[in-house]
Amino acid sequence: MLLALLTAGLVGALAISLVKRYADQQELDYLTANANAAARQALPLMFPQVSPTQLQQLAQTTAFLGNLRVRIQDTQKNIIADSGARNGPDSFVWILPPDPDKTRDGEPQVMSIMLGRRRPMRNADGTIVQQPPGTRYMLVERTDGPWGRRFVFQAMTDTPPQDTATTTPALDTDNRSTRTVSVPIGDETHTIGFVELSGAPNFGGELTAATLQALIVAAVLATGVAGVVALFVGRGLTAPLKNLALAANRMSGGDLTTRAAVSSDDETGQVASQFNEMAERLQSSFTELGAERDTLRRFIADASHELRTPITAIKTFNELLRGGAADDPATRTEFLSESQSQIERLEWITRNLLDLSRLDSGVASMDMAVNDAGEIMQAAAAAYKQSAIDKGVALVVTPPDPRVGFRCDRARIEIVLSNLIDNALKFTRNGGRIDVGAAAVDHIVRLTVQDTGTGIDPADLPHIFDRFYRGKGSITRGSGLGLALVKSIVHAHGGRVDVESRPGQGSRFTIDLPIDAAPRTS
Ligand code: ADP
Repeated sequence: MLLALLTAGLVGALAISLVKRYADQQELDYLTANANAAARQALPLMFPQVSPTQLQQLAQTTAFLGNLRVRIQDTQKNIIADSGARNGPDSFVWILPPDPDKTRDGEPQVMSIMLGRRRPMRNADGTIVQQPPGTRYMLVERTDGPWGRRFVFQAMTDTPPQDTATTTPALDTDNRSTRTVSVPIGDETHTIGFVELSGAPNFGGELTAATLQALIVAAVLATGVAGVVALFVGRGLTAPLKNLALAANRMSGGDLTTRAAVSSDDETGQVASQFNEMAERLQSSFTELGAERDTLRRFIADASHELRTPITAIKTFNELLRGGAADDPATRTEFLSESQSQIERLEWITRNLLDLSRLDSGVASMDMAVNDAGEIMQAAAAAYKQSAIDKGVALVVTPPDPRVGFRCDRARIEIVLSNLIDNALKFTRNGGRIDVGAAAVDHIVRLTVQDTGTGIDPADLPHIFDRFYRGKGSITRGSGLGLALVKSIVHAHGGRVDVESRPGQGSRFTIDLPIDAAPRTS
């Protein structure tokens, strides 16, 4: 708005100065042209003989037609004729001479005698010029309107109207030019007087005032339009920002689901989309954190439960033994051996938990070396050979041919295979079969443990690698840590573990390990 106002001001100042200069020049031309015309007409009325009455008529005629003040002076600048000041709309009367001698071709010749409506025609001595009744005269009315000056001519026969006013009205200084132009009567070598023109309409002032008025209207309009446009444009710009600020406020208040409306492709729209992306990431981070916190809480609860079970059992055996059970040697041996197995279980759980947390946090030291896949498989299966025979399950180990060597922490990979074989044995009934195999594919060694056991319920499948998770129908011994440890060890080698299972038909665990694995640090 300020800019529009400033522009209008500058344009206005420039326009007014141009208009003023143009009007000044016009005024000067107007006065000079009128003065020259009056000087030419005054010459025969001053030479050879001065006719004051006719000069006065000339002064008044010129003043009337030009709407200005005319003075005719002699060489000493004494005033011979003076039209007096002009004052607004006027009328004018030409008296037509009754003298037939003064007619031309039978028509009356117009003789320039005039009478102002408010200023009666006067002789040089100040007496009012009297006209006989029946004098023919021409009434000329002049109107100065907004579209210029208008003259109405009307021929009449009667006593010309006369005003009794004797005083010359004061010069109407309002809207009158202050410029005066004086031109000599006669030629340069022989000047016999001067025609002085002044008090012309202030065309310059009027034009300047009109221009100024138009400019003020234009400036007000331009500022108004600028204001309205600024309001709309400003709203268009600030609305998305306000909306963004609102969304940010809601988010800082804890509402992570809040999003900013993206209403355009421009910079503001891009900021809004980036804000939304950020909000999205923040929300998913919070969700993940929440899930991790829940898992941790569950883990602590499960761990304490798992540890409490053997501790309670040991405590019970201990109390029973102290309470007299120890007297019976058979009972004592049984209770002591049960206590021993519970202590071993406790030790197993704590060792695995410690290993798991070390592996997951990347601080576990890995003893990496190139090992033969077949040897590891045999070593892991050896511990279960007798149990398999006892249960009537065929445990078949097929080492790869040719031999496959790969870099790994042998003891840990043996734990992986042991846990898988242990599970397979637990869930395979008499008459079933367990196959332990290995193969090298590209830069990967693939170890497989397949059984013809109960299979895994599809509802359990996504969770079996979680710590302390045990299958819903799992009635066998176990802590739910076996597969979690498998996953952590495989992950620490940069490998992956997969499971396929069909309830009632069996399960197949596949472990892919890079042949030249470097231990993972996290
Ligand atoms: P657990 O000590 O209970 O065996 P794991 O982590 O080793 O714990 O196994 C988790 C669960 O996965 C088991 O409780 C069982 O339900 C399921 N599971 C693992 N291996 C097998 C398998 N070979 N056949 C059927 N179910 C299995």
